[in-house]
Amino acid sequence: MATETAVQTFKNLINGEWVETASGETFATRNPACVTDIIGKFQASNEADVVQAMESAERAFHFWRNVAPTKRAEILYKAADLLEAGLEQYAEELTREEGKTLASSRLEVKRSAQTLRYYASEGLNVTGDTIPSDDPTTLVYTRKEPLGVISVITPWNFPISIPARKIAPALVTGNTVVFKPASDTPLIAYRLVEVLHQAGLPAGVINFVTGSSSKTGVSLVTHPAVKAVTFTGSTGAGEKINRSVRLSTRVQLELGGKNPLIVMDDVNIDHSVELAIKGGFELTGQACTGTSRVIVMDSVHDEFVDKLIEKTKLLTIGNGLSKGIEVGPLANESQLHNVLNYVSIGKEEGAELAIGGERITEGEYSEGYFVRPAVFVGVTPKMRIAQEEIFGPVISVIRASSFEEAMEIANDVEFGLSAAICTSDSNRIQQFIQNIETGMVKVNRPTTGNAYNAPFGGVKMSSTATYRESGRAAIDFYTQIKTVYHGF
Ligand code: NAP
Repeated sequence: MATETAVQTFKNLINGEWVETASGETFATRNPACVTDIIGKFQASNEADVVQAMESAERAFHFWRNVAPTKRAEILYKAADLLEAGLEQYAEELTREEGKTLASSRLEVKRSAQTLRYYASEGLNVTGDTIPSDDPTTLVYTRKEPLGVISVITPWNFPISIPARKIAPALVTGNTVVFKPASDTPLIAYRLVEVLHQAGLPAGVINFVTGSSSKTGVSLVTHPAVKAVTFTGSTGAGEKINRSVRLSTRVQLELGGKNPLIVMDDVNIDHSVELAIKGGFELTGQACTGTSRVIVMDSVHDEFVDKLIEKTKLLTIGNGLSKGIEVGPLANESQLHNVLNYVSIGKEEGAELAIGGERITEGEYSEGYFVRPAVFVGVTPKMRIAQEEIFGPVISVIRASSFEEAMEIANDVEFGLSAAICTSDSNRIQQFIQNIETGMVKVNRPTTGNAYNAPFGGVKMSSTATYRESGRAAIDFYTQIKTVYHGF
C-alpha cells in the first residue's frame, strides 16, 4: 500500500515529452477496495494543456499520415509485446485502481495486446475500390485516407481495452491522437501510452492528458484540429458532447445499456442462472453490456429465482487482488451512492429486494466501496429499476407469460446495446435475433463479452447510429473516402 510520501507522480505526454501541466496541479487516485491506498498522482490538466496536445497532434499528422503502413504496424506489434511482457504488473495496477478481480484485469491487458496486434494487421488491409468507368480514358478509384486529429475519451470500467480499441485503429490508418482517460483510472491508461511511446511512436502522434473533464472537455471536443471524437461513457455526457461538436467533426458515442436476458421455459435452469450471474455480477455489474433485467417465463420463474438467490449468496466479495474473489468493489464513491440510491428506488417502487443491496462495511470491507450483489423480484417493466441504467450489481427479475410478452418488455427501454436469450427452441431463437432492438445479440451466452475482432455497438440511445467500434468495421470511422478520376 502506498503511503502519501511514496506516491509516484505521472506526467502528460505532449509532443513526445513527459510534461507537467502549466498550472503544476495534480490529483491523486485511490484504490476503491481500500481508499487509504493511494495509487498515484496525475496531472490536473486544463484547457491550455489540451490545446498544446492538439497542436502537437496536428503537427505530427503531416508526417504520420505518410509513414509506411508496415512501419506503423511494427510499432503496434512492439507495443503489444511490451504490454504482454508487463502483464502481471499492469493487471495488478488495473485491479488496484479500478477494483475488478485480478483474473479480469489479466484478461483485459491481454486482450488489449491482442487488439494492438489485430489492428497492426488490419492496417495493411485498408483498401479502396476501382470503379467501372464509362470513359475508357479515365481510371476511377477510391482511396481511404486518415482524418487528422482524433480525440479519444474513455471510461473507467475497461480502462485499457476500450482505449486500445480506439487508439490502435486510429493510428494504423494514419491519424494522430489526443487521449484523455477517465479520472478514476489514469494509471493503466498511462501504461498503454507508455508502451506505445517506448515502441517508437514518433513525437506528437499520441498525446496524453489527464484531468477532470470539467477542465479539459471543451477543447477535447471543440478544438478546430479535432476531426473526430470517439467517446465511450455515460449517455448524459455523450449527449452533451454530441451537442457541442463542430459540424465538420465526426462523432462516435458508445453509451449506456439496460440489457435483458430472456429465460424461456425449455431451459436448464442452472445454466440460465449462471448466465444471469455472469452477466449481472461479474465486473461488479459495471459493464455497459451487463445483465440488468432477467425476463423469466412464469412456469420456471420461482425455480429460477430460488436458484439465483442461492448462487448470489455464495459469491465471494472482496479486494480483487485477493485469491478467489468473484465480486470486487464499486469503482468510486459516486458509483456507490448511485447503486445504493437505485436499491432504495426499487424498494420504494414496490419491488421485493430478495437478497443483497446493502453496503458492507465490517472488517476488511471498511475502507472500500463494497455492496452485496442484489436481486429484485416482482419488478414490473415500467419501474425505474427496469428502465434506467444502474451500472452496478443489481438484477431485476421480471415475469412474462409468453415469448411475445418477453420481447415486448425487452424492447421497451430507451437503450439497445446487448440482449440474450436462453432457450433451445430454434424458431424462438430466430424470432429473437430478428426482432430484438439491440446491436449485439447473444444466444445461450451472457449479455456481456465481445470479440475484439467483431463489431461492437448498439442502437437507440446506446450508440450513435453511424459507425461501429471494434473489428474491421472500426476502420470506417477513422478513414474518409476520396474518389479519384484519373484521365490518361
Ligand atoms: P462518464 O462519466 O460519461 O465519463 C466517461 C469519460 O468521459 C471520462 O473520461 C470523463 O472524464 C469524460 N467526460 C465526461 N463528461 C465529458 C464531457 N462533457 N466532455 C468531455 N469528456 C467528458 O462515464 P463513466 O462513468 O466513466 O463510465 C460509465 C458509463 O460508460 C456507463 O454509462 C456505461 O454504460 C458506459 N460505457 C459504455 C460502453 C459502450 O461501449 N457502450 C462501454 C463502457 C462503458 P472524467 O472522468 O474526468 O469525468
